[in-house]
Amino acid sequence: MKIAFIGLGNMGGGMAANLVKAGHQVNAFDLSPEALARAMENKCAVYDTVQGAVAGVDAVVSMLPNGAIVDSVYSTDVIGHAPQGAVFLDCSTIDVDTARKVTAAAVAAGYAMVDAPVSGGIAAANGGTLTFMVGGTDEAFARAEPILAAMGKAVIHAGTSGAGQAAKICNNMLLGASMIATCETFKLAEKLGLDLQTFYDISSKASGQNWSMTSYCPVPGVGPQSPADNGYQGGFATALMLKDLKLAMAAAQSVDAEVPMGEKAAALYEAYADGGAGGMDFSAIIKTL
Ligand code: NAD
Repeated sequence: MKIAFIGLGNMGGGMAANLVKAGHQVNAFDLSPEALARAMENKCAVYDTVQGAVAGVDAVVSMLPNGAIVDSVYSTDVIGHAPQGAVFLDCSTIDVDTARKVTAAAVAAGYAMVDAPVSGGIAAANGGTLTFMVGGTDEAFARAEPILAAMGKAVIHAGTSGAGQAAKICNNMLLGASMIATCETFKLAEKLGLDLQTFYDISSKASGQNWSMTSYCPVPGVGPQSPADNGYQGGFATALMLKDLKLAMAAAQSVDAEVPMGEKAAALYEAYADGGAGGMDFSAIIKTL
């Protein structure tokens, strides 16, 4: 297929390279010359406008920073410029309302579109092992699935338009809250005189077990290898966790949902990021406790 890829940053760069490896012809556009240079190394065709990149393609994939940018790129340069009938896949993490609005505009103009945010970080983007949660009609999902499968290990249809974004922010709200709960638990265990490896051996087989503990332990030297063992570098940045928690708080407000644990997690991550730790892995919040 001919695919336009817009936004080839930390995540999109590797994703576009995997589309090329799967045999697709990829037209790349990004505002950053560094991103375009990497795209060229990865055998993408490089364009200096979005409109140039989307001309004559079967599909458009985007991996952009936020909803305002996604809205502006699609409404100005993709809708009406990509060939009629093309399918659009926005893999960025954005708010549910913007995802639905952009899809409705695309569908009204004769396109198919899905929101397809990802779970997994830069390593998964490079390695083609992302998990995609997809919102859209059955027909749009059927068209998007083989394209997403070339960039990930799992592609799950979450529901209608916006459902992919809803699943993503619900999952990450749970992750943010469970990471902080795991961090404070290890600190309490330490203050109570428990050996942390022994506590891990107990809790990882007891009812406190959770992903933040057994797959991403915030304590160095305990559990599997994680960013804690690497000075809290790499992994999932605090700033990105805060972005997702803010999206979750806005979504909760829009449907009048009570999310007291999510609110607390958002406030703690905001304070930590404001203190200059936005680039640290999100498990580094243990250092504040
Ligand atoms: P990034 O900042 O590295 O990449 C974004 C790219 O978009 C940049 O190269 C930037 O130049 C480009 N861009 C910005 N405005 C543009 C425009 N108008 N037209 C074309 N290109 C434009 O960010 P990232 O880490 O790759 O994240 C991308 C998306 O993926 C975000 O929505 C983020 O929340 C989500 N995400 C990131 C991670 C992660 O671990 N980094 C994990 C899951 C989801």
